[in-house]
Amino acid sequence: MSAGFPDFRLGTVLATSFTATLTERRGEALERIPTPRRLVDWLVVSGLAVDSCTSAQLDLARELREAIHVVATAAAIDDAPPASAVQIINDRSIQGRAAAVLTPESTREWRLSSASRVEDALGVIAADAISIISGERDGKLALCASPTCQAAFFDTSQSRTRKWCDMGTCGNREKKARFNANQRKKSS
Ligand SMILES: [Zn+2]
Repeated sequence: MSAGFPDFRLGTVLATSFTATLTERRGEALERIPTPRRLVDWLVVSGLAVDSCTSAQLDLARELREAIHVVATAAAIDDAPPASAVQIINDRSIQGRAAAVLTPESTREWRLSSASRVEDALGVIAADAISIISGERDGKLALCASPTCQAAFFDTSQSRTRKWCDMGTCGNREKKARFNANQRKKSS
């Protein structure tokens, strides 16, 4: 990780790991891909390695990210998604030219048509978003219970009762707040 930049929050779902490159959306929002270089870093750790990224490609990525955020949030609360945001997701998906390949270890890898094709990587992310929003994959979209976050996440727990986008951050903070409130109650 580059020094001075906030760490990435990587989950198991590509599309929502991508929307989590902007955290604390309802509080003090933290941009985790402020520069093209940081988007390259994120794509590398997410299995979509590119060797370069322009400012225009970063803009395209952020536009896709916000479109996924809006449509996934609408899906989580059973609302109709804005057509403009759906269009952005579809455009990125259509313009991507990545191919899935099977490795000798029987894992899936993405091959981009060229190492400078950030658009191919965005196509994979858009397709991943489509697969979770459409209900094609086993799981349910929900909103994080942290009031300063409210990020849409994909709940794959058996009971579908997960409350936080990320246990290590939002979940922990809530638990600590509850613990402190209980301690105060006990000592008064
Ligand atoms: Zn959260």
